[in-house]
Amino acid sequence: MKLAVRKIALERMQILIDNAISNAKTNPELSQRQASLAQKISMRHNIRMPYILRIVFCKKCKSFIAPGINSTIRLGRTSVKSIRISCNLCGHTYRKIIAQSS
Ligand SMILES: [Zn+2]
Repeated sequence: MKLAVRKIALERMQILIDNAISNAKTNPELSQRQASLAQKISMRHNIRMPYILRIVFCKKCKSFIAPGINSTIRLGRTSVKSIRISCNLCGHTYRKIIAQSS
């Protein structure tokens, strides 16, 4: 039963983030609300957001940053597979090593 709850929560977070990203341009307020709702679900159920969902939140200012709208994502040029994410709201840039997924 607990697993089912987890699965539903994860699906809801995914949907919320997807919607937040697609609304970021046309309705920034709505997209912020959807993103923070996803964060709340994550906290309430104590579920860590999957990597792909976490990159849409700035590490520094914690804002929702839609890829290509509030943030710039660049692939690293080094041999280590990484991406560089720049937050357009606070200017913070950070690097993420792309984890090897099995
Ligand atoms: Zn930021």
